[in-house]
Amino acid sequence: MNTQKQLKIQDLHAGIEGQEILKGLNLKAKSGEVHAIMGPNGSGKSTLANVVMGNPKYEVTSGEMHIDDANILEMGVNERSHAGLFLAFQYPVEIPGISVAKFLKRAIEAQNNAAGNGQKFSASQFIKELRDNVAFLEMDSNFVNRYLNDGFSGGEKKRMEVLQMLMLKPKFAILDEPDSGLDIDAIKIVSRGVNKIREAGSGAIIITHYQRILDYVKPDFVHILYQGRIVTSGGRELVYLLEQKGYDWVREKYGHAA
Ligand code: ADP
Ligand code: MG
Repeated sequence: MNTQKQLKIQDLHAGIEGQEILKGLNLKAKSGEVHAIMGPNGSGKSTLANVVMGNPKYEVTSGEMHIDDANILEMGVNERSHAGLFLAFQYPVEIPGISVAKFLKRAIEAQNNAAGNGQKFSASQFIKELRDNVAFLEMDSNFVNRYLNDGFSGGEKKRMEVLQMLMLKPKFAILDEPDSGLDIDAIKIVSRGVNKIREAGSGAIIITHYQRILDYVKPDFVHILYQGRIVTSGGRELVYLLEQKGYDWVREKYGHAA
């Protein structure tokens, strides 16, 4: 991937069911960079992920969101996907009746069609890539024949999200708590997936409450989200600060009565 893209979010206000959750959020990220967004529970992390991806349950009341010159707010979810956005869900949905392989094949065909490359799909190349990525994530080769997330363990669901990310090769992958509920071995495997797309020039935004995963995916930039705003940004030193001091200093320094 040679063309670097920029995701730019400006003064974003958004909420759900009439309640404002994001209160003027600013963020800039380039493909090839890894950003970590950390924050205490309830600060608006999942809301941000959902709003960027276009979940219709959330309402954007003001602000702007662009990839280069393209206005993301005018796009539907599938258009956002074709524009290079990808969201790995905190709680992936189960879809009995559709196998992992079939789901991924459809997703890639749709992506190729949207890019005007419909005729470029090669089934044999797809299968090879799928096998390679399944092995890369240390999953059983039978995994691709199972129904999507149906009866998957928490760790299998997270790996499924990472597998989808590896196959779709987004410009910007947003991962909402990819580490929650995982043991350290699974966290390492998820991290391996993120590092792989980063090497290929993709950008990643890792949303997390804990610093553990950031031992394996070293972020270029770290942002702290609190009460619906990015209250401070920096480098990896912020991760160590949170590790040592927890979130109390964030509340003391940036907190205000809601
Ligand atoms: P995080 O992912 O950082 O834990 P969320 O984005 O999930 O935070 O939630 C931010 C805030 O929005 C929380 O205070 C939560 O209670 C509130 N919230 C989430 N979903 C709803 C909803 N459906 N209705 C009202 N408030 C909600
Ligand atoms: Mg969340």
